[in-house]
Amino acid sequence: MGSEAEKLPPHVLIFPYPIQGHLSPMLNLAHLFCLAEFHVTFVVSDFSHRRLLRHTAVAATFARYPGFQFRSISDGLPDDHPRAGEKVLEVLPSVTNVMVPLFEKMMADEDFLASAGRRRVTCFVADGLLSSAVDFAEVNRIPLVYFRTSTLTNLWAFFHLNELIEAGEVPVKGDMDALVKSVPGMEGFLRRRDLPSFFRGGDDAILQTLAAVSRKIVRAQATIFNTFEDVEGHIASQLRKHMSRIYTIGPIHEHLKSKLVEKEAEAATLSGNFWAEDRSCMDWLDAQPRRSVIYVSFGSITVVTREQLMEFWHGLVNSSQRFLWVMRPDSIIGKNGSDQIPAELAEGTKEKGYLVKWAPQEEVLNHPAVGGFLTHSGWNSTLESIVAGVPMICWPYFGDQTINSRFVSEVWKMGLDIKDTCDRLIIEKAVRELMEVRKEEFLERAQDWAKLARKAVNKGGSSSCNLDNLVDYITSLVI
Ligand code: UDP
Repeated sequence: MGSEAEKLPPHVLIFPYPIQGHLSPMLNLAHLFCLAEFHVTFVVSDFSHRRLLRHTAVAATFARYPGFQFRSISDGLPDDHPRAGEKVLEVLPSVTNVMVPLFEKMMADEDFLASAGRRRVTCFVADGLLSSAVDFAEVNRIPLVYFRTSTLTNLWAFFHLNELIEAGEVPVKGDMDALVKSVPGMEGFLRRRDLPSFFRGGDDAILQTLAAVSRKIVRAQATIFNTFEDVEGHIASQLRKHMSRIYTIGPIHEHLKSKLVEKEAEAATLSGNFWAEDRSCMDWLDAQPRRSVIYVSFGSITVVTREQLMEFWHGLVNSSQRFLWVMRPDSIIGKNGSDQIPAELAEGTKEKGYLVKWAPQEEVLNHPAVGGFLTHSGWNSTLESIVAGVPMICWPYFGDQTINSRFVSEVWKMGLDIKDTCDRLIIEKAVRELMEVRKEEFLERAQDWAKLARKAVNKGGSSSCNLDNLVDYITSLVI
């Protein structure tokens, strides 16, 4: 290429897995790259793109950066596919069989792979679930950086799947409370029931697919994690023996905020919402006493049966605590029975509760009236709660959530883990314990973690330095 003066900025191609929990951190990463003056091409599914345009300020946010562009293609599923509950697993083969071939055709047709020129991609940042990314990058000689949106710990467990199988610890059966011995660094606290839910048996094809993609990341030039050294540094150092460039740059949502302030940029952060936020809950929170409300939300995929819904509802009302509950319209399954709400629940909710279909979660968690979070332990929600210093009750639904919840209760000691139960008495007791009995103890721990998370992303912190190194590395790839 020509002289230094003509050198083009890095052009990063970002391909997230097209579901909300993966899109949000990837959008934040794209925003961080825009602040570093990179050019960014962001691949989304048509479905996600429409939802983002309808429910977020994504268009206005990225319009500030002329080097940014969305490219949208089909994820291969019909629009009315639920993409939630167990059905979300159907996204995986559909991405492989339909979305990836469309992506590869688009790359070739539109000159993104040319060996020189303005559109040439200089670095490919692919979602850690995109197994084909390695082969695509190797064939086209594009440096590949994987972004795993779940924890290092989750990846570490998948890394040891063979050892777990050989030791008879997987598929998980027998004494669910027995401690797991085959995942180094977690011998003292990880029980069989805490292993990623796919280890419980059932769908072997999914388990093997996820294990294979986890092992593939060592073929990438680097891997990014939305985590920080204080929470997972011990696993990061073990993983660094298998791959040299690991960048822990989380909590990425807070990191972006910090960078926007540092750069005095006008843009605000955004959540990758697929639903319209109901902001009326903020007014309701304004009227509640400090640290008196438990926020209840199970993220964008979890579904509950009507029976489970009733157990949660009775547990919450019987706990006599105030609650703000997100009930996503598509989150209740098997509604064959009556849709009627028992009078005592309707009454209890009128007195102390508030229901919305979707909330501005980050803002809610940072509201002074919120004192606890009943969560499904999705990694984004967990990080948002850590940053806000809010203790959690964890009711993991699937995937890495079973492991995240164990960390919350046993390692970080900032909450309770009620996995594998759904009983109104247990829920009532846990809510009282979090919001009354052990309130101060949990709040104190949560505030300590919040301080560490903020420190990591502020200038000079571990995540901030790692991001600087990542930016330098990607810049060095431009030839
Ligand atoms: N979220 C939100 N409003 C809600 C519920 C959830 O903005 O009412 C956001 C939440 O802030 C988080 C994401 O949805 O960023 C959920 O991601 P997570 O990884 O916790 O769970 P998933 O949806 O992937 O199961």
